[in-house]
Amino acid sequence: MASGSSEKPWFLTDETGARSVVFRAIIFREYHKDITNILGERAADEILYRLGLKLGKTARRLYFNLNRTETEFWTDLTAKFQARGWGNVVSHTHVGNVAEIVVEDSALAEEGVAGNACHLLRGLFAGWLSVFGKVTEAKELQCKSQGYRLCRFQFTINNAEKHDYGLMPWTQSPTITYLPPLSLRSE
Ligand SMILES: [Zn+2]
Repeated sequence: MASGSSEKPWFLTDETGARSVVFRAIIFREYHKDITNILGERAADEILYRLGLKLGKTARRLYFNLNRTETEFWTDLTAKFQARGWGNVVSHTHVGNVAEIVVEDSALAEEGVAGNACHLLRGLFAGWLSVFGKVTEAKELQCKSQGYRLCRFQFTINNAEKHDYGLMPWTQSPTITYLPPLSLRSE
């Protein structure tokens, strides 16, 4: 992996030194429409989900295994999600084997498209949440592209199946953490 930004100053790198690129969000949205036209909705959605999963699992390995507490995990997730331009995490919960994340201004949502738009984010969150165990279900319950103000994601996590980077560094918290008010969750 090329990481020598000092040797090649035109390389854009992330905080780990890995070469990165920046896309306009509209490119992703157009790509979604394009592969839907070519492959059909189901295949296109799955491809985007898997791309997100790859991104999320990479981030989990690089960053989230280092978190010492669950609170630290959510703080980092929210910050990285914003810093990468995906949108704003307005609330998150993790109770038992279910996690929910609510996002405003998803970069992938666009009104007027058929179905939900944020399959890549479903995968991204599923990859990140795999620090808790194997994510067996990843749903976007509502999407801004369907006229809702917020995108709302729900994940089922099989805590018995640990991820492939060793045991969780913390025990799962039974408490609920909200960033902004609970009322946002149902909008
Ligand atoms: Zn969405």
